[in-house]
This record gives sequence, structure tokens and C-alpha cells, in this order.
Amino acid sequence: MTATPAALGGAPRFDPPLPFARPARPPIEDFVRRLEPSYERGMLTNGALVAELEEQVAGLLGVDHVVAVSSCTAGLMLTLQAVLADRPGPVVVPSFTFAASAHAVAWNGHDPRFVESDPRTFQIDLTHAAQAVDGAAAILATHVFGAPCDPVAVQQVAGDAGVPVVFDAAHGLGGHAGGIPLGRFGDAEVFSLSPTKVVVAGEGGIVTTGDAELAARLRVGRDYGNPGDYDMRFVGLNARMSELHAALALASLGMLDETLVRRRELARRYQDGLAAVPGVRCQEIAPDDGSTFKDFTVAVDADRLGLDRDQLVEVLAGEGIDTRAYFDPPVHRHRAYAGGEVPDLPVTDATSASVVSLPIYPALADADVDRVVDAVTAAAAHAEALVAELARPGRVPARRQASLSRPG
Ligand SMILES: *Cc1c(COP(=O)(O)O)cnc(C)c1O
Repeated sequence: MTATPAALGGAPRFDPPLPFARPARPPIEDFVRRLEPSYERGMLTNGALVAELEEQVAGLLGVDHVVAVSSCTAGLMLTLQAVLADRPGPVVVPSFTFAASAHAVAWNGHDPRFVESDPRTFQIDLTHAAQAVDGAAAILATHVFGAPCDPVAVQQVAGDAGVPVVFDAAHGLGGHAGGIPLGRFGDAEVFSLSPTKVVVAGEGGIVTTGDAELAARLRVGRDYGNPGDYDMRFVGLNARMSELHAALALASLGMLDETLVRRRELARRYQDGLAAVPGVRCQEIAPDDGSTFKDFTVAVDADRLGLDRDQLVEVLAGEGIDTRAYFDPPVHRHRAYAGGEVPDLPVTDATSASVVSLPIYPALADADVDRVVDAVTAAAAHAEALVAELARPGRVPARRQASLSRPG
């Protein structure tokens, strides 16, 4: 039985509120125990723990070369710097991604050439990418929300055009495309270890590649461009990973299997529960692919649900459910990129305006998912009254929760 929505006077479904994200953290003793040897030796950055992390990830994903860096953004910057060398022209990138994808292009002095994404999978639109790649220097595609963006097909588009391809795999550590782990595709893939991602280091990134020369260049690039003799070979960054971050990353990586099992269980529960709600469509993922469910994102069809995305977000906020509109606005409309001619990307605009990501993390209980589903179900059932209530003059909107507000 579905109780009255809080916005219509019912009791909020979550009190205290349900935060949007909570990083799965290993017990602090695990972190300290791993850090101790490096710490006691006075080795605080780019030491044995970073090397161990790189080895473990290489073994886990079955890739030849792994280079740990200080963030995914820095990893993307250095990787693009390497693959774009002597290649003029824009870089094809979906607009429906996190802004750091485009930032890595822009920091290298290239323009992002934004393309559409599929409205059902939210992944880069291959037809549009194939049209846009003419005259481009490279393709940078994102595995959106941890589901693979059909990397084999993206490679094909890049290969036909004779340009390199890099994957923004920030969400994708532990995901696979048709059984092949993300990390094995393209010229390189770049993962993030920041707190909302699947494996966490506090801050950190990981580049994977089958190209020994590229890996060697990244190792120099993360160290200012210094191969060791202080004669800088090119303009690099300080993008080293510290031993402190590597210690947490190793402990977090040890939890990856259980994290993925739990995220996938929760996602399945959302999918099953939301299937009955008209106008709420879950991200489509090919049956042979494995998502990490870094995010669980649905698209709202306002005509069928009776509420648009913003109205649903407001109703859920009233229930104590914190959500995010990932990715809205789309990157091509950010002020950082809208200086020139804004490209016409109607599908992306519509997707961005309709999506909402729901809480998903290992600490979430089945009952929490059921209550979120119930809140969405109740919103659909009471849509007409809710629309009237939300439009009522003098109404005080529900306060947005701070994402890490609930302890435990
Ligand atoms: C988080 C994220 C990044 C940036 O990762 P950092 O490690 O914070 O630099 C890049 N791309 C996508 C798609 C992301 O979600």
C-alpha cells in the first residue's frame, strides 16, 4: 500500500533523510596497516604502494600497463596530451558526460566537438560520432554511469577515421563489455578513484593501456615531464599518486567484488520495482554487458508520469530522498563552453532535462530501495494533486540535503 506523499501532508519516507552517496570505506585499520610500511620509511608519494596498486589493477583487468595518477582529470589531460601530439583538430566528445571529459580536451588547447548520446542508453551516439569525426584529432567517449558505451563500436568508428580513441572510464572500474573488462579498450582508458566512484582513494586516477610507449610517457608526464635527470622532455604535470591515497585505494580495491555484487543487486531491485511505474525508464544496458552502477539513473517521461523531472526531484526531496540530475546541464551548455556557437544537440538537451540519479551504494538496504520505489510510485499515483501543490503560491520548497549528511 502506498502512503500519501509527504508533499501532500504524509510523513516523509526517510527521516533522517537518505543521502545520495556514501563511499564504501574499508575499516580504518586496513588503511593504516597498508600505509604503515611506506609511512615508517618516509616514502610518502609514488612508492611501493602505488606500484602495488598498479600491479593489482593490471592483474585484475588483464591489461599490460597501468599508471596511477592523482585524479582521472589529470590522467585524461596527460593521456590526451600524448595521443594528440602533432594532431590538430577538435576532439569528438559526448555532451552528456561529466565536464572533466571536455576539460581535458580544452586544457590541451583543442576544442571539444560535442556529439549526441542515445536517449535510451545515454551513451555516445555512434552515428553522430561517425559524422563528426571527419577532421577531428581523436575521440573521447565516456562509459556513462558505469555501463560500457559499446567500446568495440567506438573503436571501429575511430579506426575507420584513423584517429586515436580514449575512454573516460571514471565510472567503470569493474564493469565489462561482453565479458571483456573495461580498461582493455582503445588507446587508453582512464578511471577515477574520487569519493563518489566505485573504488575510492580520496582522490586518484588510473590509466590503463596496452601501449608501452604511451605508459612510459605517462610516467614521465605525471612527474612534471621529468624522466629523472631534471631535463624536462615536455610540459608535464604533478599528477603523482601519493602513498596515502594508494593505501586507501588498495584497501578499497579489496572490496570491489562485494561492492559490485551489492550495487548490482540494488540496481536490479530498482529496475524490478520501477518497471510498474509509467513514465519512468531505467538506463538501458545490453544484456551481455556489466555495469558498475556507479549511478542508477532513470529518465522521466513527463506526459506519462504526470510530473516532470524537476517536479519529481522536489517530491522526492520532500520524502527525504536526495537525488542528482546527472548530467544536467549538458556540457555543451556550460558557460565554460558556450562562448562560441552552441551546437544543436536536441536529443542531449531532452535527455539532460529528463534524467535523475537515485541513491545507490553498498550501505543502502533493500528496504531503502523499496521505500524510494514506493515514493516514486506514490508520486505517479498522486501526480495531479502534486502538480497543483507544487505550483501553490507561498509554498516552501523542500530543502535539499547535503549529500553526506547521514552518519553510518
Ligand atoms: C568523476 C569524473 C571525472 C573526474 O574524475 P576525478 O578523479 O575527480 O578527476 C571524469 N569523468 C567522469 C565521467 C566523471 O564522472
